[in-house]
Amino acid sequence: PLVLGIESSCDETGVGLVRGTQLLTNTVSSSMDEHVRFGGVIPEIASRAHLDAFVPTLRQALAEADVSLADLDAIAVTSGPGLSGALMVGVSAAKALALATGKPLFAVNHLVAHVGVGVLDSAFPDGLPPNLGALLVSGGHTEILRVNNLAFDVELLGSTIDDAAGEAYDKVARILGLGYPGGPAIDRVATDGNAKAIRFPRGLTQPKYLGTAEQPGPHRYDFSFSGLKTAVARCVEHYEADGVDLPVADIAASFQEAVVDVITSKTVLACREHGITSLLLGGGVAANSRLRALTAQRCAAAGITLTVPPLSLCTDNGAMVAALGAQIVMNGGEPTGLRFATDSSLPVTHVFA
Ligand code: ATP
Ligand code: MG
Ligand code: FE
Repeated sequence: PLVLGIESSCDETGVGLVRGTQLLTNTVSSSMDEHVRFGGVIPEIASRAHLDAFVPTLRQALAEADVSLADLDAIAVTSGPGLSGALMVGVSAAKALALATGKPLFAVNHLVAHVGVGVLDSAFPDGLPPNLGALLVSGGHTEILRVNNLAFDVELLGSTIDDAAGEAYDKVARILGLGYPGGPAIDRVATDGNAKAIRFPRGLTQPKYLGTAEQPGPHRYDFSFSGLKTAVARCVEHYEADGVDLPVADIAASFQEAVVDVITSKTVLACREHGITSLLLGGGVAANSRLRALTAQRCAAAGITLTVPPLSLCTDNGAMVAALGAQIVMNGGEPTGLRFATDSSLPVTHVFA
């Protein structure tokens, strides 16, 4: 099916077109530049920017793919989770398009779309394998999932109990004076640092949380990054109290190693213990060079086949929404229709409305 996907959950206005598992086009307009001076996304500014960007982004996507609205088989839109006002712009636009064209409309989950974009990879010519694992690492979420069926059955194996990985990157970048957005800045600076310079804590890895395979502890596959952020803040205070120049690159690299080490080791553990032999990496933090490298290394060592989408499909975009929409259509999902609301805290297990 030819599916148009619309994304507006945060600061990216995305429109993508997918035919089955084939990517036709992925057009994104970001309002990030307008948020930089505030050090974070301002919801009202993001919503207004979506309003301005939607029609030009849609026109560009249709032109690039040489497709007209009449050709579409379905329209998919992110209905949550995300910023309410921002979501409402994309959802209203999608409803208007569906009403005007008579095309079926599907309200889909942004988080599952981050993972579902993996189907566009040529690694899955015959569809997704059964018992597929997914590691979702984004600005608001850090989750280990088992995807029994992308459209109907996504199971949560573990998640962060406090900050998301991307959030930790952004907070630590602020502490280190690296500006916003923090993830790409730390990734860049860390390449010149020694990742073993400082041993930062790995959250929820003590035996009382891990337990054993037979008797899992309460947080065997869960993450915690707020203690790590505090440890970085204390470390910086020590250097400042001593009047020593801050070894920014070493701190960034050591922080990054702590995040990536615990994420990859717990993910491989969860895969092993659930018989998962194929893993999809998704979410904005999947753009991180160290996360990509260590996940690849540890998956290879554990005999897990890893699929990582290209960078442009990791950060928020419309193609991922179209890709998930196409999966739902191909699996016989019922269209949502026009009567649905946005849900800023939609859980990952709720694939579509
Ligand atoms: P969610 O998808 O959970 O609703 P979101 O849409 O805001 O949240 P994404 O767009 O998926 O999140 O990802 C944005 C996050 O990814 C930010 O926290 C950003 O710092 C982080 N990020 C982007 N590039 C990198 C990188 N190279 N290294 C580390 N983090 C990165
Ligand atoms: Mg963004
Ligand atoms: Fe996202």
